Amino acid sequence: MGVEAEGAGVEKPGMNGMHGIARIVMTAALAACTITAAAFVNPALEVSHRARAMHPGEVVVLEVRARAPLADLSATAFGHEIRLFQDASDGVWRGLVGIDLTTEPGVHEVVVRASSAGGGQAEVVHALDVAPKEFPTRHLKVAPNYVDPPAEVIERILREQEETAAIFRSASPERLWRGGFARPVPGRSTSSFGRRSVFNGEARNPHSGTDFRAGKGVPIKAPNAATVALTGDLYFSGKVVILDHGWGLYSYFAHLSAIDVAEGDVVEQGDVVGRVGATGRVTGPHLHWTVRLNDARVDPLALMELLPAD
Ligand SMILES: [Zn+2]
Repeated sequence: MGVEAEGAGVEKPGMNGMHGIARIVMTAALAACTITAAAFVNPALEVSHRARAMHPGEVVVLEVRARAPLADLSATAFGHEIRLFQDASDGVWRGLVGIDLTTEPGVHEVVVRASSAGGGQAEVVHALDVAPKEFPTRHLKVAPNYVDPPAEVIERILREQEETAAIFRSASPERLWRGGFARPVPGRSTSSFGRRSVFNGEARNPHSGTDFRAGKGVPIKAPNAATVALTGDLYFSGKVVILDHGWGLYSYFAHLSAIDVAEGDVVEQGDVVGRVGATGRVTGPHLHWTVRLNDARVDPLALMELLPAD
């Protein structure tokens, strides 16, 4: 709910000597707020959300409707700043929230703050009720050195994990993505997001992306506009391309046979960034697509379903 001029008019002890002056200042402040409030009716914000489902690994579209033109609008969720833009088609402010794969079920708060051109302020706390989800387990057979890596590659693995983690923790200030997200390869997904992976009988991290059926050499197309944040050849992921769509949204493509872009390149939706392959810890050629949203691991299928390409 909106809170305006909180504390104004409250008499603080020990201010008796200044009482008269303080009262006049506060009265003036209240008058200013009253005028603002008239133009910026409180609660001026209507906050809602859309999602495919409300459980770990899902994407949430946060929608804010304001009754007055806003000078500023910001939100926080899961400890991250959520940026919002005003959709020219309907005037609604929209932003994306990611519910990480390991989010505890229960009510999580999104705090939305806005100020109007006249200086009025409003704050709305919006609840996201996250339901529990059990992800299935899959058993895979891979080369033994991908289950218990030899000692000489441990340092490399840690370095690569830190490098990619640092990218995912950051959020570029410019939003490059627009409209909907397109399928990077024509093949069907195997809907394997979140599955517990057991490699050669040993449990490993949950699958933080979605796999798509595709043969070696199939072009991988950028699902939306981005800059290329990283290209490389990583121990587990093989040849990879990380696309930075801006505002903390990333696409990570793994196991490529070839990379067609360089770090710093700007790509548009549909541009070819690489080719499907079977490099790294895999059982055969396929495309692995991870989406990171403000560091949360979310299902790319949720992103495509919520924001479909034309
Ligand atoms: Zn995968």
